Amino acid sequence: MGGKAVIVGAGVGGLATAVGLRRAGWEITVIERRAELDGFGGAAFGINPPAQKALDRLGLGEAFLRKAVPYRQAAIREPGGRTLTRLPLDRVERRGGRPERLIARPHLLRILLDALDGIEIRYGERVGDPAELSGYDLVVGADGIGSGVRAAYFGGRTAQREVGTMAWIGVADTDVDVHGETWGDGAFFGYTPVEPGRTNWYAVLPSPAEAASVRPYFASWHDPIPRLLAATDPATWIGYRMRYLHPALPTYVHGGRVALVGDAAHAMTPNLGQGACSAILDSEALSRAVATHADLPAALRAYDAERRRPSQRVALASRSLHRFITTRHPRLRDGVLRMLPV
Ligand SMILES: Cc1cc2nc3c(=O)[nH]c(=O)nc-3n(C[C@H](O)[C@H](O)[C@H](O)COP(=O)(O)OP(=O)(O)OC[C@H]3O[C@@H](n4cnc5c(N)ncnc54)[C@H](O)[C@@H]3O)c2cc1C
Repeated sequence: MGGKAVIVGAGVGGLATAVGLRRAGWEITVIERRAELDGFGGAAFGINPPAQKALDRLGLGEAFLRKAVPYRQAAIREPGGRTLTRLPLDRVERRGGRPERLIARPHLLRILLDALDGIEIRYGERVGDPAELSGYDLVVGADGIGSGVRAAYFGGRTAQREVGTMAWIGVADTDVDVHGETWGDGAFFGYTPVEPGRTNWYAVLPSPAEAASVRPYFASWHDPIPRLLAATDPATWIGYRMRYLHPALPTYVHGGRVALVGDAAHAMTPNLGQGACSAILDSEALSRAVATHADLPAALRAYDAERRRPSQRVALASRSLHRFITTRHPRLRDGVLRMLPV
């Protein structure tokens, strides 16, 4: 089966879908409201083994490996520096047959764009009215948490909800020898490798939180937290009010010709680091379904059956983890953590 597809949104989900559908022989148009792609939505992505395998199936595995770094050692600590538990990255690697890896968001977008050489991407164009999409056989809503495609075809009941914290995200031009997350009282700080000589960090504190409040808030937390904040120019920090979609959608497809992928379908809090992974898995599953089914409505049903429940389970787990981390009873939380087997 082939045809004409329009993809709304050129984030990870939209671009990966474009790569997959193009491989399946479809004619693709991508429409992106931004004039150009920027670094919004996380300076680096942790990509788990299943999402890496989906990248392999999209023909992008080697390019990904050239830019990604493995993530093997990380711990959860208290603000004073004491380790509460280790992150089970060895278990992830044993189960997945390869390590979790991190990649800078611009590198991942570049890999996707390079695979789309010759495809029309209409930057600086915002889809407002779904009637604009009527000339296409397939419409893919990859337009993120505030998806207009979702609002137009799936009703307005499912909407973005804030969780009451704000993340400030940055990349420091320095390496550090410990990685992981540090959990305080209603706030946490994460620091991961991203590429040699650079460290990705995110500081999460109760909303609203101005950039100017971040350094003082974390000043007494253990090394390297104040050092990472001091090493990053606040003008480059990205602020993000943490949110997720609620209630979960009853379907990701509509009318035999519309499908949602990525945050448009299941935006989640980033605590499990799986939003982009899920977007990649959606994109690969959708393009595989379209390539292997004789008719489009059957392909979309197969996509929905494969991806909806797993992605919604991850979103729920992520939201629950956010609640656990930011509890106002950190002693109880830390006691539970210490008892966990690692
Ligand atoms: C602090 C933080 C850390 C994270 N860390 C990780 C991690 O380690 N691992 C991981 O897997 N995920 C992580 N994520 C999640 C990840 O960033 C998102 O899940 C992922 O980027 C979603 O991709 P997407 O393509 O679905 O949506 P988006 O990246 O939001 O892309 C949607 C695109 O659609 C465009 N658009 C919107 N409306 C329109 C319109 N009307 N017309 C045209 N274009 C439109 C937007 O401009 C945008 O470019 C993190 C997120 C945050 C906030």
